[in-house]
Amino acid sequence: MAICGTCGSEALKTRTIFEVNGQKLPEPKDECPNCAPDHFERFQDPSEKKIWMSWEKDAAHYRREYDKDGPIMMPSDSVLQDLQDSVCKPSGEELQAGAAAIEEKRSNRRTTPMSSDEVLMAINKAREIAFDIEAYHAQAERESRLAREISQSVN
Ligand SMILES: [Zn+2]
Repeated sequence: MAICGTCGSEALKTRTIFEVNGQKLPEPKDECPNCAPDHFERFQDPSEKKIWMSWEKDAAHYRREYDKDGPIMMPSDSVLQDLQDSVCKPSGEELQAGAAAIEEKRSNRRTTPMSSDEVLMAINKAREIAFDIEAYHAQAERESRLAREISQSVN
């Protein structure tokens, strides 16, 4: 505890000021939470930092039920609905992005048929993809056969 030289009260914390806005004071001045509360953080009891459970903070939206282990707090239907909405319903941002994507697609949609060159390129691209898929499966088949052989030789 310290005694504040300005107001004379006993305080956990005091501070001595030597200047204000760069101007040196004629003599140093004390201040404490009592006479200058704005210059000190509010004292917080550690118990004030407790984490409040939703049903403690918002008791009106919960009801007490009992199971074999004792009381349990059950959220009301409106709380459950809000929770479900927050997970399942798209947000305003998502709706906006979706609408913008649809608008973009509509304004840039292709309306003329593909030329024979474009058809040929598309078929070649599809062949390439099919070839890659086939190669991938062949590789996976070889690896699984090898794994079977190793596990049989171990046992
Ligand atoms: Zn004071």
